[in-house]
Amino acid sequence: MQQHAEHAGYAEHGDQYIDGAWRPSRDAGAITVLNPATEQVLASVPAGGAADVDAAVAAARRAARAWGATAREERLAPLTRLRDGLAAAQEEITATVVAELGAPVGFAAAVHAGLPLTVAGSYLALLAEHPFEERIGNSVVLAEPAGVVAAITPWNYPLHQIVAKVVPALAAGCPVVLKPAEDTPLVARLFARLVHEAGFPAGVFNLVTGTGTEAGAALIAHPGVDLVSFTGSTGVGREVAATAGRALKRVALELGGKSANVVLPGADLARAVNVNVANVFANSGQTCSAWTRLLVHEDRYEEAVELAAEACAKYVPGDPADPRTRIGPLVNAEQLARVRRYLDGALAEGARLVVGGSEPVEGLPTGYYVRPTVLADVTPEMTVAQEEIFGPVLVVLPYRDKDHAAELANGTPYGLAGGVWAADTETAAAFARRLDTGQVDLNGGRFNPLAPFGGYKSSGLGRELGRHGLEEFLTYKSLQY
Ligand code: NAD
Repeated sequence: MQQHAEHAGYAEHGDQYIDGAWRPSRDAGAITVLNPATEQVLASVPAGGAADVDAAVAAARRAARAWGATAREERLAPLTRLRDGLAAAQEEITATVVAELGAPVGFAAAVHAGLPLTVAGSYLALLAEHPFEERIGNSVVLAEPAGVVAAITPWNYPLHQIVAKVVPALAAGCPVVLKPAEDTPLVARLFARLVHEAGFPAGVFNLVTGTGTEAGAALIAHPGVDLVSFTGSTGVGREVAATAGRALKRVALELGGKSANVVLPGADLARAVNVNVANVFANSGQTCSAWTRLLVHEDRYEEAVELAAEACAKYVPGDPADPRTRIGPLVNAEQLARVRRYLDGALAEGARLVVGGSEPVEGLPTGYYVRPTVLADVTPEMTVAQEEIFGPVLVVLPYRDKDHAAELANGTPYGLAGGVWAADTETAAAFARRLDTGQVDLNGGRFNPLAPFGGYKSSGLGRELGRHGLEEFLTYKSLQY
């Protein structure tokens, strides 16, 4: 094992989790991990490259046939121990995500630590009952593992996105090589430790930290990988799909979004706006499925803008470690600069700043904080109405009638999520059928971890979560007799 210099909370990690053990990285270079609230260095992890990726994929390939041939009970046992490990590590997970992502501690405990536990538990139940064999006429159809999986994840829900790929892949019988995001490798290392403690066979799970352009690119292009499961930006997703396409690898992509929340006449406007503001400011606005566009009938437009401004006042940026904080910093300096550029650009294009803006947050000179912002008088062709900002920015657009509302809701390249509010569920559901998007919450319908999650159009290919998420990692063989 390489040196571990640990002092004053700082840890210099030199190892990758490959073939069932922590092994010194074969590649030179390190990634420095910062706390986005304090800008202090938290740790460093290896910047793996082609050599680490080669070793990890080779280990996964060696493990593939035996792991793929296991009975479901043999996969259920270590997966159950992994779920129990996630349960026991909730506090450590929370503290890690607060430190490396800057998520407020209450949100981190409930969502960043709690959701992966729920999702892992959901796959135990699915694995216990999934029909891996089915008779269709004179055929028996076998659901078999799709092979070695490359899992590439972003930083915004760092553990959830890992669990939503790795757990169903392992449940399906596929070995995995995980390449997590540069900004949040520490929770990925924690996950690898829990996998190790759960006692999976060597090579079934491997972790390579590194940059997207080195480790990520080497992994998706590797001939030993059969399936690429990628969550991240649409731009990188296109490159991933092109590389995978040339090699005819299967690919699943969870990409960006610009989701609309449509408040139809007759709906409870105050509730719809309040839920929208909470939805878009959660995780400092860094949520792919956030309802970043609020669509309101023109007769109640000004009322909605005022309600949004009032709700916004409850979100005062602050120290994510303080339990009273509802909104923390953005993940890094680059994201902060990007969000500010969008805000300045919006005003230059003629949007009205209701609250927030690109000025620094008062009293917080350190940390990547941005003001929670509401923009009004936004027209559909404006950049802030079309592009994903990935910060706490809500744009409010007026519509004339239902047809116009549907046209606006569908009028971006994305289609990941959305909301519809109406006087009754039937009206909301009828409107939701007109939307080109993967998920729609009606009158504040709760998130369902068993429902397929994924995008239409440029928001991606394939689905995660539940049975649909498990099937992404299966392929089929038909026997006729
Ligand atoms: P990103 O695309 O820059 O990076 C995502 C991952 O891909 C990281 O691990 C990165 O290292 C890796 N990567 C980067 N370039 C690569 C390359 N050339 N080859 C292989 N891998 C590469 O995205 P990000 O900034 O980390 O995350 C934010 C984006 O993710 C947003 O656009 C957001 O909407 C999207 N997202 C989507 C979902 C979803 O489920 N649809 C969920 C969360 C985030």
